[in-house]
Amino acid sequence: MSEETNSKVTMEKIVSLCRRRGFIFPSSEIYGGLSSCWDYGPLGVELKRNIKEAWWKDMVQSRDDMVGLDTSILMHPQVWVASGHIQNFSDPLVECKACHQRWRGDELKTPACPACGGELTDPRQFNLMFKTFMGPLEDAGATVYLRPETAQGMFVNFPNVVASARKKLPFGIAQVGKSFRNEITTGNFIFRDREFEQMEIEYFIKPGTQDKWFEYWVNERMSWWQKLGMRPEHLKFREHCKEELAHYALGCFDINFLFPMGWAELEGIASRGDYDLTQHASCSGKNLQYNDEETKEHYLPYVIEPSAGVDRGVLAFLCDAYDEDIADGEPRAILRFHPRIAPIKAAVLPLSKKEPLANLARDIFNTLRTDWLVQYDDTQSIGRRYRRQDEIGTPFCITIDFQSLDDRQVTVRERDSMTQIRLPISDLKATLAAKLAGEPLAEGSRVWKSGDDKPAQK
Ligand code: ATP
Repeated sequence: MSEETNSKVTMEKIVSLCRRRGFIFPSSEIYGGLSSCWDYGPLGVELKRNIKEAWWKDMVQSRDDMVGLDTSILMHPQVWVASGHIQNFSDPLVECKACHQRWRGDELKTPACPACGGELTDPRQFNLMFKTFMGPLEDAGATVYLRPETAQGMFVNFPNVVASARKKLPFGIAQVGKSFRNEITTGNFIFRDREFEQMEIEYFIKPGTQDKWFEYWVNERMSWWQKLGMRPEHLKFREHCKEELAHYALGCFDINFLFPMGWAELEGIASRGDYDLTQHASCSGKNLQYNDEETKEHYLPYVIEPSAGVDRGVLAFLCDAYDEDIADGEPRAILRFHPRIAPIKAAVLPLSKKEPLANLARDIFNTLRTDWLVQYDDTQSIGRRYRRQDEIGTPFCITIDFQSLDDRQVTVRERDSMTQIRLPISDLKATLAAKLAGEPLAEGSRVWKSGDDKPAQK
């Protein structure tokens, strides 16, 4: 493993934790699974939703210059002619003449089959779009495609959004949704799937301002991943060289993450000029120009496109957050998730299953669950319950002990530092809100008593 990688994390550990704790399962597993398709379990669905919601909140809700959209997966086939996907969205496919395994020609390091050393066929271009038929006739005229990106839905709706949302340049359209690519080679868990989700922005700008806005979005997107807790040393930019760029592209930066298999793309930010709107204007015959009221000019805006993968984001957050250490003399695996993306925000752990403690714990649980996804766990020793919550990345555990019945106080334990504070139940919700928003556990206005009265450890 390269000295750069987080040496504690391997793909095997992540896959096994995801399965054991209910983050991610193979699709249709009882039938042997379906290659490169995955199901998100009870914790995985929360992690994924939290990432998408954080993106939506930060990129759409809290900005004046962005609106959202949710466009259909099936689009008019001409969309893909205009976008260039019918013509160009392909990878070179080679097949081994001996074992018949198929490979992406541009990814092979040697001229022979990596599996058996056999001779390979000449490459042929293989289009990555999934085809299906619309309506009862399965003929060429009924062919439609599952979208390979969400971007085109935003381009073709540009005039609708301008007319209805009354936005002035610069402004962006944002969308989160499923995309499909019939990838030749898959693997590395959820890194490269045939069905996946994207979070994409098309940011429309006045021609001539593209350098400024490109730089802005490249930096904005890099800081977003870090704001959600991703370690800066696990992220880096990779600028596309001239030969890699599409003929119309003015520039492209990838944000690469240090996955267990090495550095790989998490998000791409491209400066696309007016290529997409030009193509759609010419193929549809519609006028897609923007009327600039200030300058009285009519023109096609340029576009900056930050395009991130949700599933790759899930994998990156899992790998970045994974850690192992020794707690109370025992090894523990922890997911050090930022509270915003942690699937479960707090666990309520009564020291006894019996009344009246259970009743009090249930009351606390019911009060907290109106604001957050909270787990209730009264099985096994408290130490084991802490370990379980650490492993799924729960930032806080709330322990209710017998003294709680008398003094109406509980103990809050923080996952990363294992610091504990004791505070009145009446103050719990406000304290938890402050701590989930980033206030350190043993600091701030709402700390009551630190260190003492720790719940018994087993
Ligand atoms: P790659 O080179 O890895 O195939 P790409 O450059 O084709 O990716 P884009 O078309 O730029 O990817 O898509 C934007 C983002 O969508 C990527 O950065 C990635 O996070 C995500 N993505 C693309 N293809 C897949 C896939 N097959 N599985 C999961 N995520 C994907």
